[in-house]
Amino acid sequence: MTHPASSAPFPLAPSPSGSQLTSWILERRGPKSRVNPDKVNAWTVESEPCAGPDPLQQASIWTLFLTNKECPWRCLMCDLWKHTLDHRTPDGAVGRQIDAAFAEIRSSGYSEVEERWLKLYNSGSFLDPQAIPSTDLPEILKRSSGFDRLILECHPALVSASLQMFLGQFTRSFENSEPPRLEIAMGLETAHPATLARLNKRMTTADFARAADLLRANNVDLRVFLLVHPPFLSRDEAISALHESIRFAFDCGARVVSLIPSRMGNGAMEELHKAGLFQEPSLADLEDASDLGLSMRRGFVFADLWDLVRFSRCGRCFDSRYQRLHEMNLSQQPRPRVNCPDCGGR
Ligand code: SF4
Ligand SMILES: [Zn+2]
Repeated sequence: MTHPASSAPFPLAPSPSGSQLTSWILERRGPKSRVNPDKVNAWTVESEPCAGPDPLQQASIWTLFLTNKECPWRCLMCDLWKHTLDHRTPDGAVGRQIDAAFAEIRSSGYSEVEERWLKLYNSGSFLDPQAIPSTDLPEILKRSSGFDRLILECHPALVSASLQMFLGQFTRSFENSEPPRLEIAMGLETAHPATLARLNKRMTTADFARAADLLRANNVDLRVFLLVHPPFLSRDEAISALHESIRFAFDCGARVVSLIPSRMGNGAMEELHKAGLFQEPSLADLEDASDLGLSMRRGFVFADLWDLVRFSRCGRCFDSRYQRLHEMNLSQQPRPRVNCPDCGGR
């Protein structure tokens, strides 16, 4: 459903319920794309370092972007709603999606390597029963058998509310076989309190820390998504907020921090940009973020390289700079910056 855009400015003081901000965000959305509940939105096979430090071993990660009901949170920067259903995910659909994606991956020639991980990302929360029907969990978990690690994503509020129920099902599913190591990815986005409050995530850093504690107490690993250059912050403020956010994420027990460049594309972020409240990071900003994260040496830090070209302003050096970040992701070691005669690498 699309909403006619009002010309109201961004509500700088969000109401406690977030309803005013939610309306403002929804009014700026464009149309969704058509999705098929029996097909994943996409899949990828990538490498990620899994043990180290010297030499780092690589795991092969099969990532499936599941098709399911839209996430009920309406975060200011989120564009994942574009490829979701308006209604509850049909029973059995997620299992069919996984089967079809696995068949495509296998027929694409990806070999069964030693360390194999499965990421099931669902543009929302895996523990949301409207997105992933609870009755489907046994069939879904059965398909994760044989993988060494299963990585899911979830909003911290649902981790707090539903983790025990999920873990009960997880334990029952692997009574007679070796379970994959479980990891849950949660979006902290930023530990800068005033900015976090404006993202409509309806979560504080204390809420996040509580959910992280629960994961740790249940022997579940934590992966944290952080925004590079969230709205409302100047460049200098953004890099110091990122430093604090990485520190906070690792203090919460994160195994991995994933750095996601903030971007336009959902209507709301365009409006913030026009109002001078948001500037997309440049490629150099993402490089600064990656350098910072690795220099802290607290755990794995990955720069998200999806659609990286949109942040580049120079055709001459983009390929080398992409390759540098890719190698840093795999090696977890800093590399010299690319020296470009056209743009100076900025
Ligand atoms: S919780 Fe995650 S998926 Fe849901 S709206 Fe927020 S950013 Fe998007
Ligand atoms: Zn250049």
